[in-house]
Amino acid sequence: MRNYKIGIIKGDGIGPEIVEEAIKVLDAVASKEGFNLEYNEYLLGGAAVDVFDNPCPDETIKGSLNSDAVLFGAIGGPKWESLPKEKRPESGLLKLRKSLGLFANIRPAIIFDELVNASSLKPEVIKGVDLTVVRELTGGIYFGEPRYKDDNKAYNTMIYTRDEIARIAKIAFEEAMKRKKKVTSVDKANVLEVSELWREVVEEVAKNYPEVELEHMYVDNAAMQLVRDPKQFDVILTGNIFGDILSDEASMIVGSIGLLPSASIGGKVGLFEPIHGSAPDIAGQGIANPIATILSAAMMLDFLNETSAAERIRNAIKEVLKEGYRTKDIAAFDAKEVVTTSEMGSLIADH
Ligand code: ATP
Ligand code: MG
Repeated sequence: MRNYKIGIIKGDGIGPEIVEEAIKVLDAVASKEGFNLEYNEYLLGGAAVDVFDNPCPDETIKGSLNSDAVLFGAIGGPKWESLPKEKRPESGLLKLRKSLGLFANIRPAIIFDELVNASSLKPEVIKGVDLTVVRELTGGIYFGEPRYKDDNKAYNTMIYTRDEIARIAKIAFEEAMKRKKKVTSVDKANVLEVSELWREVVEEVAKNYPEVELEHMYVDNAAMQLVRDPKQFDVILTGNIFGDILSDEASMIVGSIGLLPSASIGGKVGLFEPIHGSAPDIAGQGIANPIATILSAAMMLDFLNETSAAERIRNAIKEVLKEGYRTKDIAAFDAKEVVTTSEMGSLIADH
């Protein structure tokens, strides 16, 4: 029997509640599809600070590196906010991402027909949106040296090397091959030299994917096009800072933050997590939407090449939404029945 070692990091706030539901769904689909998932739980963030006085214990890194994939909930909360920076939950997550060599962040934004009214954009603009942002995660202006600040002057440096651009571009083209075969590479090549190199390298990588249509777009235009006509996009390929901004913009096209999954890949092990945070304001109330985490689990199965299991999960979610079940965050949109976190997980697992 196919067997996968899955690292489980529940984290803080609503993390444990939503990851529980994703495990329910994973167990259901694994037994249906005939593979086995072996879970090992690790601590990260506030939960790890409480036990080990360290937001990213060595055991978590080692365990994750020993897994085939890691499913992660969310970290952080007011309890740990006043700690020194290196002890804060967020530093733990950054350290884990770095240790796993995760340089690519993939964020699909897919509209469920049942929830077209959840978006702030018009239904006719968003119905059928199915795009994904591939963001470079470990380079660019967020990490470039030199960086400096005094009272009068401050600067940062946007650096990309040929290799860094090529490896993220390759991931975007691979994604496009599995989708609608179009890549929109977003840059600011009319102003920035680093973007000129970006374009050149993306063009070179594109030669290996003759079936994929490549277009280039300036970031200012891309920001506008995303809200004007999001359906024109398939894969958006971009660097760290532009991707940070565009992926948040793209995610809001869909409506609730509780619906959006993400994958961080690039190393041997992938890390799969909802895009939202630990939502301490609603933790423990049974109202968190587990769908973002369940969709992240589906992305994890795609990563493990269990694509039919992943598809089964996505279909189950659609069915449950079609039947009118909603968690509180999406209750305003054609709900027949408002259900708890755990009821939503069970409904999806049953389907
Ligand atoms: P982070 O800094 O970790 O990204 P954040 O401060 O941006 O966190 P979130 O934790 O993402 O905030 O929460 C933002 C808002 O969205 C909160 O009001 C929260 O309750 C709500 N929210 C987040 N996730 C969910 C979810 N799965 N279901 C329902 N509501 C959610
Ligand atoms: Mg946030």
